[in-house]
Amino acid sequence: MKEKDKNKVKQEKKINGENGKNEKKEDKKEKEHSSPERVVKKEKSKEEEGGSAKKKPISSFFAPRKAAVKLEKEERNEGEKKKDGEISAATEPKEKKSEKGVDSAVQSQYDPSRAHYHPVDHACWKKDQKVPYLAVARTFERIEEDSGRLKNIETLSNFLRSVILLSPDDLLCCVYLCLNQLGPAYQGLELGIGETILMKAVAQATGRQLDKIKAEAQEKGDLGLVAESSRSNQRMMFAPANLTAGGVFNKLKEIANMSGNSAMNKKIDIIKGLFVACRFSEARYIVRSLAGKLRIGLAEQSVLTALSQAVCLSPPGQEFPPAVLDAGKGMNTNQNFFFKVSIKTFMYICVPLRPMLAHPTKGVGEVMKRFDEASFTCEYKYDGERAQIHILENGEVRIFSRNQEDNTSKYPDIISRIPQVKKENVRSCVLDSEAVAWDREKKQIQSFQVLTTRKRKDVDASEIKVQVCVYAFDLLYLNGESLVREPLSKRRALLRESFEEKEGEFVFARSLDSDNTESIAEFLEQSVRDSCEGLMVKTLEKHATYEIAKRSHNWLKLKKDYLEGVGDTVDLCVIGAYLGKGKRAGSYGGFLLACYDEENEEFQSVCKIGTGFKDEDLEQHYSFLKEHILPKPRPYYRVDQSAEPDVWLEAVQVWEVKCADLSLSPVYKAAMGLVDPEKGISLRFPRYLRIRDDKKPEDATTGSQIADLYKKQQQIQNQGEKQDLEDYY
Ligand code: AMP
Repeated sequence: MKEKDKNKVKQEKKINGENGKNEKKEDKKEKEHSSPERVVKKEKSKEEEGGSAKKKPISSFFAPRKAAVKLEKEERNEGEKKKDGEISAATEPKEKKSEKGVDSAVQSQYDPSRAHYHPVDHACWKKDQKVPYLAVARTFERIEEDSGRLKNIETLSNFLRSVILLSPDDLLCCVYLCLNQLGPAYQGLELGIGETILMKAVAQATGRQLDKIKAEAQEKGDLGLVAESSRSNQRMMFAPANLTAGGVFNKLKEIANMSGNSAMNKKIDIIKGLFVACRFSEARYIVRSLAGKLRIGLAEQSVLTALSQAVCLSPPGQEFPPAVLDAGKGMNTNQNFFFKVSIKTFMYICVPLRPMLAHPTKGVGEVMKRFDEASFTCEYKYDGERAQIHILENGEVRIFSRNQEDNTSKYPDIISRIPQVKKENVRSCVLDSEAVAWDREKKQIQSFQVLTTRKRKDVDASEIKVQVCVYAFDLLYLNGESLVREPLSKRRALLRESFEEKEGEFVFARSLDSDNTESIAEFLEQSVRDSCEGLMVKTLEKHATYEIAKRSHNWLKLKKDYLEGVGDTVDLCVIGAYLGKGKRAGSYGGFLLACYDEENEEFQSVCKIGTGFKDEDLEQHYSFLKEHILPKPRPYYRVDQSAEPDVWLEAVQVWEVKCADLSLSPVYKAAMGLVDPEKGISLRFPRYLRIRDDKKPEDATTGSQIADLYKKQQQIQNQGEKQDLEDYY
């Protein structure tokens, strides 16, 4: 048995023990004094406890439930008589009176955990009636009493099935009550009323002394139980309407929304108003909800599972009486899994999802190692603000930030362009994108700092100074279907099919599907030139689902600071050139570089280089190097066939190159035999810095120096991986 259950049984025993005594007393009293005089007597006993006699009567602290039901029936009528007016007992039709009593009795016996639960016949309210809060409280009671997760899910699911079939409008508030949430997380509305206020409210509503409440709460460890047992005597004095789930939920929201000077007293007033209407265990759960801790052991996942089961077993939207009461008869737990998936889907639209994030990498080597054989794509990493765009069936558009804040009013310009870029087949969707500041005249991306100058709320479209372009990179939901379990390749294809690009307004994130390190290097360089932060490298097929709220290893980020800040420089000799294409046609577009191995007195190929050159550098290299063309390589050039250049060059010039990453290579020959018996080492992402006129070709970085750099990098990477593991555990 759970510790909390043990405590509860203890408490219950205690309560029942005292109740036992009180019950007799109360019953006797009940017989003797089922008249208004009894109130006076009660007041006396209250005086004995030291409270304000005028305010509230109290005779016994732990009133018995059975007696309470009985008393409630009779005294409610008394109260109603007293109140005179609309609900005076005298004017109220007889059947209605007894109906109320019956309602209470029936509701107090409501048991959604019973076997073979029938969502209509076993509910304690009727079609189109509001869900009584007591049904919620009874459900919580059953769940609190049972510690089995599956049983509890079933209990909650049974209750929700009744709600779906009888009072579907109450479904949302009932689910929120179970989650002890007042709305979606992004609204940031929270309860968590301080204990002092709650105790004051309990004291005032029951007329008991604050000290006594405090002492008892300490003893029981749960103000909810104190409130519950305190309430038992109070309700007899009043005839407030029974609490409904929706009513309680609205009051909770009202309380959470209150701020300012007199908020505390107003809160206490509302809480008091709720307490006087409480029956049975209702006060227990109201207090706990207010305190922000429901303490029934029901995690969010369980609530969602229960909801999914309920929706699937007793589908909403049916005629009444419903044809399908239990669609799941005979279903197994595997099928249940799909229920769960379906409900997550159901929750997507207009509920901001916590976005998937990328894992930082220390270099391209790490990217290659992590993705190994997996196919992946590299996308520009735009430097703006994440924009999760929800397009609803009714055409409404909502935009949420990375932290699920509602940014809809910040981007009226994005909202207004959605109809133009969305294709006709799109009825509803959730897309993931980055909103980036955009200079319309120069047609280029502006820095993140520019974006931050934009007004954050209630922006008037006509006054926008900082324009934004949306770079869409993912599609999580489309026309009622969740896509998060689909691989990125499919999500991306659907994204591209579902939207049209519009320059400077809505564009797909620029991407390159390649595992060629040279091309990736160029793409990274290009992304930086295009004012981006670097690249996001994402798996396309395997392990390529969208992982909500996760910093995932399926997405790796390769930031430009890695190029700028990290890496040593090496001095390498040019021994070959590749003819340029496109813009570089007519000159050399890339070069083959080598280190010098003193021991073997040879130049060992180490990488191709094509980045870091300004146009004038390329011109200068071409005019100088074309004078040093060789008809064939020197015998002391160590080069693999697959890396042969278009023209061989005499080793006459040394260049300083930034080396961001080194890796073992079957193609390049640098340091061959020093780290691996067969493989050499190559530089990845080499970047040209300048000519080293002061160095002769034989002064170039040596093979053993390259080997040392490689070993140093391995050590750093291993440390990084160790750190990753530590972070993970
Ligand atoms: P970071 O904040 O460095 O962890 O990087 C993650 C952020 O990069 C995301 O929250 C996005 O706002 C942003 N981002 C920019 N471009 C992309 C892209 N192509 N894919 C995913 N996220 C991107």
